[in-house]
Amino acid sequence: MPTSVIRSISELRSHLASPRSRALTLGMVPTMGALHAGHERLIAQARQECDHVTVTIFVNPIQFDRPEDFERYPRVLDGDVAVCEQLRVDAVFAPTAHEMYPERLRTTVDVSHLTDYLCGAFRPGHFRGVATVVAKLFNIVQPDRAYFGEKDAQQFAVIRRMVRDLNFPVEIVGVPTVREADGLALSSRNQHLTPDDREVATGLSRALQVAEQRIQLGERDPVRVKEAAMAMLDELPGIRVEYFEIVDVVELQPVRSISGRVIVAGATWVGGTRLIDNVTVESDSTDEAR
Ligand code: AMP
Repeated sequence: MPTSVIRSISELRSHLASPRSRALTLGMVPTMGALHAGHERLIAQARQECDHVTVTIFVNPIQFDRPEDFERYPRVLDGDVAVCEQLRVDAVFAPTAHEMYPERLRTTVDVSHLTDYLCGAFRPGHFRGVATVVAKLFNIVQPDRAYFGEKDAQQFAVIRRMVRDLNFPVEIVGVPTVREADGLALSSRNQHLTPDDREVATGLSRALQVAEQRIQLGERDPVRVKEAAMAMLDELPGIRVEYFEIVDVVELQPVRSISGRVIVAGATWVGGTRLIDNVTVESDSTDEAR
């Protein structure tokens, strides 16, 4: 079956009525398009685990805190549809902004506390925009499972919490980060990097590795772990660190001492491009090993 490309909510609902009536498992992969191998991994996993797969492609205006980022965000629907065809996606839902927001929104979803640090501290309104659009998409598609990348660790935690707090009947599935051979996490924004930018852009994933190694070697003081990572980043001209934090995996609060599972997450600016990345580190396993 070719992939159906659907622009309106009503058309998508009629398309989904048939698989739903046959009790098929519905999977959904929300994206903003410009699909790359990271998205492809989410789609491939959804394809394996679900009978019917919808990929949503929507550059959501209300989650952008900088207008220029929204303006220059890559939009390549035809190429994205071709990728979805290849991966045997059943439906691509690519609504217009007017279809999603026909009138001024008076209802939004705010996930508190989990959004206090990391990107939440630097991108005002961003996670409100994300949670609100994902809640809308869940209500439109009503999937059994939805797939999100661990690359956006805070987004993943926020969506998982929203689903628990508000009883959305959907299972949230996390998918590991896909990286280039040199460690750079794939991102639609990577295409803004010049060749020079591209070289320094790997600094963030290398700094995360430094932090991970320190923790694996037994360092439990987050300040010292951060110092080691920052010492590496400070050496690199052309990269500016927005944040580099070690937080707990549930509430995403900075930890005073490292124990159990923690997320080490950072955001950097390279030229005019903002890049984020993170690793989850299991520190207890190294305690036992010592
Ligand atoms: P985006 O189109 O950037 O909003 O991303 C759509 C989904 O793909 C989100 O759940 C992201 O976390 C996920 N994603 C983006 N980049 C990657 C990557 N490099 N590896 C795995 N998942 C990713």
